[in-house]
Amino acid sequence: AGANVRVLSIQSHVVSGYVGNKSACFPLQVLGFEVDTINSVQFSNHTGYKNFTGQVLDDTQLDDLVDGLKTNGIDHYSHLLTGYIGSRSFLRKVKSVVEHLKTVNPNLIYVCDPVMGDHGKMYVPEELLPVYREHIVPLADIITPNQYEAELLSGKKIRNEGDAAEVMEWFHHQGVKTVVLSSTELGSENKLVGMASSMNNRSKTRLQVHIPRLPANFTGTGDLFAALLLGWMHHTHNNLKKAVENTLNTMQTILHRTLDMARSEAGPDSSLTVKHLELKMVQSLDDIRNPEAKIKATIL
Ligand code: ATP
Ligand code: PLP
Ligand code: MG
Ligand code: MG
Repeated sequence: AGANVRVLSIQSHVVSGYVGNKSACFPLQVLGFEVDTINSVQFSNHTGYKNFTGQVLDDTQLDDLVDGLKTNGIDHYSHLLTGYIGSRSFLRKVKSVVEHLKTVNPNLIYVCDPVMGDHGKMYVPEELLPVYREHIVPLADIITPNQYEAELLSGKKIRNEGDAAEVMEWFHHQGVKTVVLSSTELGSENKLVGMASSMNNRSKTRLQVHIPRLPANFTGTGDLFAALLLGWMHHTHNNLKKAVENTLNTMQTILHRTLDMARSEAGPDSSLTVKHLELKMVQSLDDIRNPEAKIKATIL
């Protein structure tokens, strides 16, 4: 990745399994990034298990950690990545962290995954939505909402490609240069549709991509997606098409491996558990370094 690529990633930590920082850190390291992690929570495992234990970091504790970085002059980052955030006060503090990091490095790239919900349901407190919309989105350089999150933020339903284009345009109006809808339901039973739009002062690129849908519910995929996209936007010098393709090709390979291994671990007669479906991350080292060239995006 060359000199001076250092990411600060503010996400969940789990002792066992792969979501949040556990899902983002390894792939970014494999792609050559220094990765500094702040764990917004540390839980025994992700919340899809029947039980979880652990602690939640509050806004003053976040402030405290960033203060330590400041004091030692180790608060210069090329990228900031944020994911799941569970409280309004923490999100407000994240805003001041973004602002601070942008004063230390005016070229900082902020990649925001505005995790709020999926399939028509919010799984964070509703009071986070206006904070994202008014304070966080305008600071983001790259944003990776799923369809539902994009609809919540823009206030517009996505029923077709035209709606998706309008929603992505809404993000551009807020100042976000690159918008990637990691998945939409505009496809069919066996495929998801990804959409993306990128603008700079000279031109705009819009694209669409078909994602073969695997018959399982994975966890940690949104977090992995955002991390890979950050990595590939950097390595391709912001070539949106290549970055999205590489990201999705690695995603597909990891999810295929995860499903294959889950099935063999479970055996022929048992159903797959959340434990079986933990992402097979370390087994996918080579696929992170060298994505296949299967999935192709279409420039619109
Ligand atoms: P999550 O549901 O994990 O919070 P998200 O809703 O933010 O994630 P999605 O858009 O659902 O993000 O998924 C991110 C990426 O993960 C998709 O672009 C796709 O590449 C991959 N993915 C997730 N689930 C599947 C699946 N069942 N089949 C194929 N790809 C999947
Ligand atoms: N963080 C924690 C603690 C979780 O429990 C989960 C999902 O259960 C996530 C993050 C998000 O994972 P995903 O990338 O699937 O949205
Ligand atoms: Mg989803
Ligand atoms: Mg997500």
